[in-house]
Parts: sequence; C-alpha cells; structure tokens
Amino acid sequence: MSATVSLAVLTAWLGGFRDLVTENRDYLTELDSAIGDADHGANMARGMGAVLDKLESTDPAATIDELFKGVGMTLVSSVGGASGPLYGTFFLRFGVNAGAVAELDGAGLSAALGAGLGGVIARGKAEPGDKTMLDALEPALEAFDGALAAGDDVTAAARAAADAAAAGRDATLDLVARKGRASYLGERSAGHLDPGATSTAYLFEALAKALE
Ligand code: ADP
Ligand code: MG
Repeated sequence: MSATVSLAVLTAWLGGFRDLVTENRDYLTELDSAIGDADHGANMARGMGAVLDKLESTDPAATIDELFKGVGMTLVSSVGGASGPLYGTFFLRFGVNAGAVAELDGAGLSAALGAGLGGVIARGKAEPGDKTMLDALEPALEAFDGALAAGDDVTAAARAAADAAAAGRDATLDLVARKGRASYLGERSAGHLDPGATSTAYLFEALAKALE
C-alpha cells in the first residue's frame, strides 16, 4: 500500500506493461488477424521493447514529464500502426500533466491518466462503444476516480481500474467497430475482442501490479 506513486513505481509499470504485451504478443496478433491486419502484438511488443531498451541504456529520468516524454516519443517513432501514435500520445500527455515532479498522489495520477485519455480522444476521435482501446481506457479511469472518491488508496483504486478495463475489453466482443481498420469489416467485426482494448487492459493490470 502506498500513498504516492514514485518514479520507480512508474518505471515498474512500464516494465510490467512491456512484459505483458511481450508474453501475449501472439494472442494480440491473433485478435488483430480476425478484425485487422495481424500486427497489434508485434506493434506493442516492438514499441514497449524499444521503450524499455532506451530506459535501460540512458540515465534515469529525474522527473515524470521527462520519463514519459521519452516513452511517448519512442512509441510514436517505433510503431507504424495506429496504436503507436495513440499510446504515444497517451504517455506524452500523461507526462505533461504530471509535470516536473518525481511523484504523484492519487489525485495527481488521476489527472495525468485523464490527460492521457484526452490525448487518445483528440488523436483518434473515437467515442465510447466504437470498439477501440477507449472502451477499456474510459471505464478504467472512471473506476479509478470512483474508488478514490470512495476513500480507497491509490493501490486499491488501480486494482479497481484494472478490473474495469478488463470488463471494458470483454464488452468489446459484441460491438461493431466504427473506428480504425476493424471498421472496414462493418457488422463482421462483431464477435471478436478489440486488440487495442485488450492491450489497454494489460496497461492497467501492469499499473495495479506495480502498486501492489
Ligand atoms: P493498425 O490498426 O494501424 O494496424 P494496431 O493493430 O497496432 O494498428 O492497433 C489497432 C488498435 O488500435 C485497435 O484495436 C483499436 O483499439 C485502436 N484504434 C484504432 N483506431 C483508433 C482510434 N481512432 N481511436 C482509438 N483507438 C483506435
Ligand atoms: Mg493492426
């Protein structure tokens, strides 16, 4: 249980996310082969692999904005698919919102995550129910804020967010895609989980694990 989220915890979050997308690379690719172009696993594993390679080979960032600026830029430059700019924007905005600090409290983490969500919406123009990563991201943040408001600490709030992201991912199964490549399939996109919502569920699972 921790009241504040340190640079070390945030770095562990990124490492945990890299591990989850790498371990589940084939699964993410299989999901994307059903309704996309079979590259989401490769995109995420390559992008997060590049992020951690860079973190491990350079001096540690002193502030959260510095850490996430590097993360976002690496993702945008190393991932060709839609997910690179979307996750890249998420992390860039997260860092800018957090600012030149070395730790965040629950409210600060909520604000930074919310800024990241705003970046994904601004960049991708998706709405809830369009069968995208937003369908995991938005409920995760809502659950995080709800848990904080109910008096939970940041660790419990992150667990609630991870559970909500997983439920949001599962709910993409029956949706018809209205954004991204999957939308080209129209009604035939229903009956498959969205790959990006699945990787976003890993993002929040990694955050919960980093805090536990
Ligand atoms: P690409 O679609 O370019 O091959 P990826 O396969 O890596 O890129 O990522 C696909 C995922 O990106 C989708 O499953 C979806 O969750 C997400 N996505 C695509 N377009 C958008 C958008 N406009 N807004 C939000 N998320 C999107
Ligand atoms: Mg793809």
